[in-house]
Amino acid sequence: MPMDSFVLKTKNKIISFLEELRVWYLLGMPRRSKERIAEIYEICKENKCGFFENTSCGMCGCPISDKSIIKNKIMLATTECPHENKYWGPEEGFVEKKAEIVNRKETVNIKNIKTGGGGGCGCR
Ligand code: SF4
Repeated sequence: MPMDSFVLKTKNKIISFLEELRVWYLLGMPRRSKERIAEIYEICKENKCGFFENTSCGMCGCPISDKSIIKNKIMLATTECPHENKYWGPEEGFVEKKAEIVNRKETVNIKNIKTGGGGGCGCR
């Protein structure tokens, strides 16, 4: 892959995940349960979409795993599968709320995002 397109792809992945974090923060940082995370990760692993890449979604580029950490799109209860088939969606109650927030241009200070136990970056 040419360097320019690699940089652009990486940049788009980062922007995509930061937007997921922004929406999640503005909706009160709700987390999915460990059981629900495992269930959704299994759906991704089935790879019916054709975009599963082990530690990330090849469609939006966001990190995915079965861990309850901030660096996991599935942990954020406001997120959804980006595929047109919507293999999984936001948790109950967040569909409408998310639609409102997505169009708001409110910015978020990343320092305000609390990672909870276990280290949000995945470190222990
Ligand atoms: S989030 Fe959706 S498109 Fe991405 S890997 Fe999971 S099922 Fe596939």
